[in-house]
Amino acid sequence: MNARISEIFESIQGEGILVGVRQLFIRFCGCNLNCYYCDTLKESEFCVDHVNGRTSKNPVSLEYVQKIIDSARVHSISLTGGEPMLHAEFIRSLQKTKPFYLESNMGLPEKAKKLKFVDYVAGDLKVRESKNADYEDLLERTFESFKILRNTRKRRTFCKIVLPSDFNAEEVLNSAMQIKDYVECFVLQPVFGSRLENIFKLQSKMIEFGDTRVIPQVHKFLGVR
Ligand code: SF4
Repeated sequence: MNARISEIFESIQGEGILVGVRQLFIRFCGCNLNCYYCDTLKESEFCVDHVNGRTSKNPVSLEYVQKIIDSARVHSISLTGGEPMLHAEFIRSLQKTKPFYLESNMGLPEKAKKLKFVDYVAGDLKVRESKNADYEDLLERTFESFKILRNTRKRRTFCKIVLPSDFNAEEVLNSAMQIKDYVECFVLQPVFGSRLENIFKLQSKMIEFGDTRVIPQVHKFLGVR
């Protein structure tokens, strides 16, 4: 089995509740969304393996990725993208020799059903201002994915909300209410360089129904990948 992967590297987790832990990042190609602030490489002819200093033509094999996972000395394996759920079958075929940390936009509930075995879910709730098409439909699919990959004793699930300076706070509150029972906490993440005033106001409302933290992208402050 093969998958298109743009890069494999080790670094610290720069977002959310596990910020600072060392991870092996597997960045899958392709995404079902198109957020205006997207800063990740979504397609690549080559897979750049920074761990072994090797570049291979895509797609790369399951065995190749498994070997890197097995030899990594990290807290967990970050399955990121792009949208890793597009590669659910490939991920399911990997042996989980380390905890799996799924970073997803949560827009693909049918794929989410195949990934219940992961240990961590960093799931997005996209705001309307992310400028994705068919926003109402995306919201419904997001709620369903959170329900499927809900927080349990075996799986830690949190919800990340990327926020620009201006957003519809009431709409975010209503959406967060739909998710609150499925997550350990909410993380409000400002788009890099955004004003924080409105985000702090939103936090003060959300803490009435759930643990809500404001955590920026720490790796950007540190200037690391
Ligand atoms: S979901 Fe993530 S990878 Fe996809 S467009 Fe949005 S920011 Fe980029």
